[in-house]
Amino acid sequence: MFKKCSVIWLACLLSLASCLTLAQQNKYALVGGLLIDGTGAQPVPNSIVLINGENIEAVGTIGRLPIPEDYQLISTEGMTVLPGLWDPHVHLLYNGHPDFAHWFSTYADQFASVTIPASAHQFLMAGVTSVRDLAVNTRDIVRVRERIEKGELPGPTIYTAGAALMPAAAPQTSPHIIPVGNERKAINETKRLIADGMDFIKILGTTTESQSIVNAIVNTAHDAGVRVTAHGRTDAEIRVALLAGVDEIQHIGIDTPTYPEDILDMVQQRIDSGTPLYWNPTVGMILNTDELAADPEWLDDPKNFLDLPVEIERDIRQAIADATFTVQAPSASDTIKRKLQSLSERGVIMTFGSDEGTFGHPASESTWRELETWVFELGMDPLVAIKWATSDSAAYMGVADKVGTLTPGKLADVIAVPGSPLRHFSTLRDPAMVFKHGRRYK
Ligand SMILES: [Zn+2]
Repeated sequence: MFKKCSVIWLACLLSLASCLTLAQQNKYALVGGLLIDGTGAQPVPNSIVLINGENIEAVGTIGRLPIPEDYQLISTEGMTVLPGLWDPHVHLLYNGHPDFAHWFSTYADQFASVTIPASAHQFLMAGVTSVRDLAVNTRDIVRVRERIEKGELPGPTIYTAGAALMPAAAPQTSPHIIPVGNERKAINETKRLIADGMDFIKILGTTTESQSIVNAIVNTAHDAGVRVTAHGRTDAEIRVALLAGVDEIQHIGIDTPTYPEDILDMVQQRIDSGTPLYWNPTVGMILNTDELAADPEWLDDPKNFLDLPVEIERDIRQAIADATFTVQAPSASDTIKRKLQSLSERGVIMTFGSDEGTFGHPASESTWRELETWVFELGMDPLVAIKWATSDSAAYMGVADKVGTLTPGKLADVIAVPGSPLRHFSTLRDPAMVFKHGRRYK
């Protein structure tokens, strides 16, 4: 017995020693690049970022910040160094296949082992170091999140709602959606998701008739201190969400050209009450379809299929080749601008997210494409866009004290891209370097 214990102790001590050695080796000095720290501050040339273990130790400039001898020097000359990006609206289980029903009936048993890990890896290689997954099989995402946290799989830090609650007695189409046809079931399932460690509750598919069910979900989540986000593509969904007091609404619908006055009045009342209202517009999936239709070649990019078995890759490629792209009229852009403006004028806070995983939005490209749409199509300042997809997103998730800016003491989620995204935004498409929690992945 004693012998057994001492062997275990020895193993523990040895692994502790090797962990410490690993941490000690993890000392990097990123030297020379233009620094965008994610706070919205103006960029700083000739920067130095010191990474020690999991954290950023110091940030300064050449000639002013000394570099200790035992730090591995990495030149970032000619590059921009910025915080790892966030994507707070993703669906890791999809990989851009246009036919959801086919995807679920064919690959559900491979979500935890193949498709979610593949999306996670693609995100990390694209410089996205934190995501929020809204609608995914709860058990599968918990398993993958644990493996990423242990360092067994490469991937971003995952926040998630787990399975989305659908307040309708619809047949179950996939374990990533839980139908809740009455208040009792809604309360029980909300409590179960919270007990399983979900960071948010997601609701979709509401109708006017489901108001009491949505109220029950929101009240149960809020009693437990958990926020709720709900689909709001249609005016009916938005009314139900606002009446129930959800924290955040998803999507901008383009079926109607403006929001009706009664909705805008409800939004105004909500803001005036002092409770903030957040909105996650996800416009890239609407505004990029013309590009997809005109130039589907970019979907064939091998990085969109990283870690996917050849059969799944072939399936996705064929489905894309067979798909018809529903190109939106140019007025879609005007509708989105008009609706965004009417929400912003009333004080709604926009949250970032790309709806990754849906058709044409593989994890390797989705985040950058959404951001680029905001910069080029909707006129957002690139520096503001970077702040939105870094420190603002971290603040929204309640972890701004730990991550989201290049500030001493925060987790070293750092990327470097060639050139300057302030001048050429597309440089964010393929980062040259990616660090997550101080570990270099690219
Ligand atoms: Zn979504």
